Amino acid sequence: MNHEFDAIAEYFQNPATHRHSTTVVGNGDDASVHHIPDGYALVMSTDTAIESVHWPKAMPLNIAGNRAVHAALSDLAAMGATPAWLWLAITARDMTALQAMSKGIVQACGTHHLELAGGDTTCGNTNTITVTAGGLVPQGKAMLRTLAQEGDEVWLLGDVGLAAAGLKQWLDDKRQGCFVPYFERIQPRYTQGERLRQAGVRCCMDVSDGLLQDAGHIATASQLQIQIDLEHIRQLDCYQKLTSYFDAETSLKKVLSGGEDYALLCTAPPELRQDLLKLQAVRIGNCLPGEGVHLTHRGQVIDYNIKGFDHFA
Ligand code: ADP
Ligand code: MG
Repeated sequence: MNHEFDAIAEYFQNPATHRHSTTVVGNGDDASVHHIPDGYALVMSTDTAIESVHWPKAMPLNIAGNRAVHAALSDLAAMGATPAWLWLAITARDMTALQAMSKGIVQACGTHHLELAGGDTTCGNTNTITVTAGGLVPQGKAMLRTLAQEGDEVWLLGDVGLAAAGLKQWLDDKRQGCFVPYFERIQPRYTQGERLRQAGVRCCMDVSDGLLQDAGHIATASQLQIQIDLEHIRQLDCYQKLTSYFDAETSLKKVLSGGEDYALLCTAPPELRQDLLKLQAVRIGNCLPGEGVHLTHRGQVIDYNIKGFDHFA
């Protein structure tokens, strides 16, 4: 008996995941082999989640596994891709931890019809989950951070600030807190990402390190200025929810720079307004000549420190 191979078989290979129609060689060989259909491009992204860094140590490990998969899918959503496969590099402190994390991961594969096409399993001091997600997008149609245009409007799809509030409740030992579910359950918005792409949106990203900081990535990549309108921010449902619990300043800070949201932030010309409203996106700002991200109030730029999350700060 070999503990490693038995565990791989039991936790990752026997619970057979969806088999994608493009897979030529699936899990079990040295690598998987996939056929890319004509007219499509391959989209890939990888993300690591580390215990005590990305999730609190006391959090159940199946939830950590589930979150890791959903966070990886969120990157594909931002590109407008349809998720197809996952590759998983996992480090577990012991077999119990491995089993618990695998539960959340395999369950997420089932929910989203993903193929667990391969991976690597190791034992180490810190539970760590690295998920590589792959998907397909029609050629030339991936939504990119570089494709915002001056004159575009800035739209948000999904909540911001609630996950940061949930993490705070977790860390304050309020595990039944009203915001905790927003931290524990990431909603990967790939269906909405596909619809944005189909509607003609060219520029999109997912918000994981704070709204203003992430908007800055679009501004830099597209070489323009993004203005976010405070009045629109204050009308967001998520801001309203936060103000029922936190004071106005704390609520604003969570909305603008709380992390782990996995909402979609995109820019689009005014002609697409109706399509975006149908997708329940909310308009929060504009793209203009210039650089950086600025918060505005009644048309005037106001001073605001836009710090988001920084792993090395
Ligand atoms: P190799 O030594 O060739 O890297 P491994 O012994 O690490 O292969 O893994 C054996 C097979 O099991 C491979 O097909 C690999 O993709 C798969 N595998 C290992 N760990 C995982 C995992 N955590 N999730 C999914 N598949 C895994
Ligand atoms: Mg090998």
